[in-house]
Amino acid sequence: MATTLAHAHPAGSLNERAARHLWMHFTKLEADVPILVRGDGCYVWDDAGKRYLDGLAALFCVNAGHGRAEIADAGAEQGRRLAFYQAWGYAHPPAIELAERVAALAPGDLNRVFFTSGGSEAVDSALKLARNFYRLRGEGSRTKIIARETAYHGTSMGALTATGITALRAQFEPLVPGGRHAPNTNAYRAPADRDPLWAAEAIEETILFEGPETVAAVILEPLQNAGGCFAPPEGYWQRVREICDRHGVLLIADEVICSWGRLGHWFGIERYGTVPDMITTAKGLTSAYAPMGALIVSDRIAAPFIESDQMFAHGFTFGAHPVAAAVALANLDVMQREDLCGRVREHEPAFRAMLESLRDLPIVGDVRGAGYFWALELVRDQDRAERFPKEQIDHLLRGVVGPEMRRRGLLARADDRGDPVVQLCPPLIAGPPQFDEIEAVLRQVLKVAWEAMRG
Ligand code: PLP
Repeated sequence: MATTLAHAHPAGSLNERAARHLWMHFTKLEADVPILVRGDGCYVWDDAGKRYLDGLAALFCVNAGHGRAEIADAGAEQGRRLAFYQAWGYAHPPAIELAERVAALAPGDLNRVFFTSGGSEAVDSALKLARNFYRLRGEGSRTKIIARETAYHGTSMGALTATGITALRAQFEPLVPGGRHAPNTNAYRAPADRDPLWAAEAIEETILFEGPETVAAVILEPLQNAGGCFAPPEGYWQRVREICDRHGVLLIADEVICSWGRLGHWFGIERYGTVPDMITTAKGLTSAYAPMGALIVSDRIAAPFIESDQMFAHGFTFGAHPVAAAVALANLDVMQREDLCGRVREHEPAFRAMLESLRDLPIVGDVRGAGYFWALELVRDQDRAERFPKEQIDHLLRGVVGPEMRRRGLLARADDRGDPVVQLCPPLIAGPPQFDEIEAVLRQVLKVAWEAMRG
């Protein structure tokens, strides 16, 4: 079927060809989008030569920054040596070296690494491994998983059962059974007199309601992305750990965004002082120079598979892909050499202060996050934290804020999976010059948005 959009562009142009054939993810088929052709450091360029500050590290991914020849070359070199062999009954040096290195960086006794091609596969693998672990231990009734409302854990059918966003689930029901959801840690919208650990206690209530003997795992991000960077209150992760231990439930930290320096540590969970039973990761593992994810598990999870001599009957052709593993190793070399985790810790206060300074704009209701991962919640009335009417939010984000940021050369996320937020998550090499640039653009954009919404 002919598209209207294709006719709006010259025949043979990239836009016209994209409109005819490229089905982009989470994008309407008739959406006109920027076409990006090059990246360097914190910046990317489109096909018309326009430069953008990448305030989102390309969907929370390019932690080491764009255009690193060293990382790209590592993939090319591995491709020439051994481009591929599957991790089903075979191994190769890059996968072995990467597993060893990831295990050494991971907290506690999380020593086993199962590589995937991305985050959803890592989450699917974690959920299946949790069930398999309990079956081997004679507790096969433990099949349910508890995640949090508004959390995003991926879109494959397994991961979707954990994702707590109704709009992403509704079209695909019935979902994989066993997904349950507890409240998240949205402090901005919580009553002032509420116990800060209320959301942790709510997880225990959910476990008790379901029956602990039916619950396999709790899966949480160290700092929840969707909804806009909900940080855990002090002591939250320790309390959830206690609750899981009390009821024999596994604790999975979904670190697809929060790991690899995003919160100033190799793994975000280190910031919150807990050791989970499993970690899922992806994105920054390779700084997205090649697709790769991983499930990292403790010795305790691996033990029944060793004792029973059973395999985990699960895998993906491209898991532990040697080119991606070589890229990940080169990425970790860069991160270690340049101490990017330390850099985030050093510059976090300046990043935060810059964002806090935008509170003088009446549309900024809340500023929240950690490390290089922050959100501004947009409101109609700052003093009363009053929301914009639902029917205005699409126009606010996709009619004004998103296009105005792009027009002024800033790529950041205008998102409404919860209340409307602008999310900032730059490459970890960003520093004060980029913070100044973000501030200058956001200030203008948010003023325009305020005027537009006031009519
Ligand atoms: N888990 C979390 C916390 C994520 O943020 C994402 C993606 O953004 C995923 C899982 C899914 O990862 P992927 O898109 O690589 O499948």
